Order: sequence, then C-alpha cells, then structure tokens
Amino acid sequence: MDEKFDKSGETLPIIEEFYSIQGEGINAGSAAYFIRLAGCDVCCEWCDTKQSWNINNATICNVEEIAQRASKEKSHNVVVTGGEPLMHNLDKLCESLERQCLSVWLETSGTHPLSGNFDWICVSPKSHKEPLDEVLEQANELKIVIKSEEDFKMAEKYAQKVAAECILVLQPEWENHEKVSKLIIEYVKNHPVWKISIQTHKYLGVR
Ligand code: SF4
Repeated sequence: MDEKFDKSGETLPIIEEFYSIQGEGINAGSAAYFIRLAGCDVCCEWCDTKQSWNINNATICNVEEIAQRASKEKSHNVVVTGGEPLMHNLDKLCESLERQCLSVWLETSGTHPLSGNFDWICVSPKSHKEPLDEVLEQANELKIVIKSEEDFKMAEKYAQKVAAECILVLQPEWENHEKVSKLIIEYVKNHPVWKISIQTHKYLGVR
C-alpha cells in the first residue's frame, strides 16, 4: 500500500461518486452507486478514466459519510472502482457499506492485495502488469479487455488461475470495438466457456 494513503482506510481519496447503471460485465443493466477512488499504477494506454490516476484530483472523504450517501439511492448495489481501488485499504469502507445493508461489488485489475469484504469481485487483468494469484482465486468474474488477437492468450492464461465457478467474459476495447468485436464473436462461438461483455453505458450515453 502506498505510504501517502491513509493505511487505516477510515478516509479514502475520492474522484467521484454517482448513481448510474452498471454498464459492463455480468451485472450490466443494474442500477448502482459508483465510488471511484483515486490512484492507479497500472497505466493502460486506452484507460477511459485517466483523471482518476492523480491523487491530487481527489477529495479525501470519511468512509461512513460515503456509505451514508450510497444508502440514500434506491438501488442497494455499490460499485467500488477506480483507478485501482486495491491500492487502498478497503476494510473500513466495506464495513461501513455492509452496515447500510448494501451489496458491494469490486472492479480491480488484481495487481494489489485484496482488502475489504465484497459480494462480487470482478478482476480485469491487464497484459503489462500481472495480477496477483491470490486475487484471481477470489474472482467471481474474470473480465478481459480485448484490443488485439494477442489478448486471447492472456485471457486463457488467467482463466487457468480462477476458481471453477468464476464467470469468464471478453470485452472489446472501446476504441477498437468494431474491429475486435468480430474476433470476439468468433472466439466465443469456438470457446463457449467465455461470454461477451459490451460497454452498454457507452451506447446508452451514461457514465
Ligand atoms: Fe485505467 Fe483501470 Fe488500467 Fe488503471 S487499471 S489505467 S483505471 S483501465
């Protein structure tokens, strides 16, 4: 964990919080409250949340207050995302959200040790920074963003490391989605253990 972060996890650097629709993965289509944490050391070139990388863009918030804001929405679903949220100690945030009887979902690249207790863990490994086996083993969903044909090899490599019941999804990288969607369709037809995830929020025009 980075020295500059609050190790206790009682406060966290927040880029934004908003109520919207989970656009991608197996939970796509569900309303959820999003908590976007600051900081990411993975640095994907195609990242669509680069504003989250710099912790100086964040507001430091108390986790109890975050949980109270989340509890005011009609949906009981909360997505903890980033940046890379596991750069922080998420124990206290998850405890506060659980006290509000919320269902807590994590979106992570899997590159930092797991903290917090989640109802759903989506691990989305990136080719240039290896995820930790201990995080892959806890994944409910393995989501691989496909930018080129090479990425299918990465998908199969990490699929070997997740639990048998983990759901496997392939998602076209947005900037190349027209080209790679065709590859993914053929791949899933030939390897039906995989499903397709589409970034539906981008088609719907929501965050
Ligand atoms: Fe962006 Fe996620 Fe990659 Fe970090 S891990 S650079 S937040 S896509």
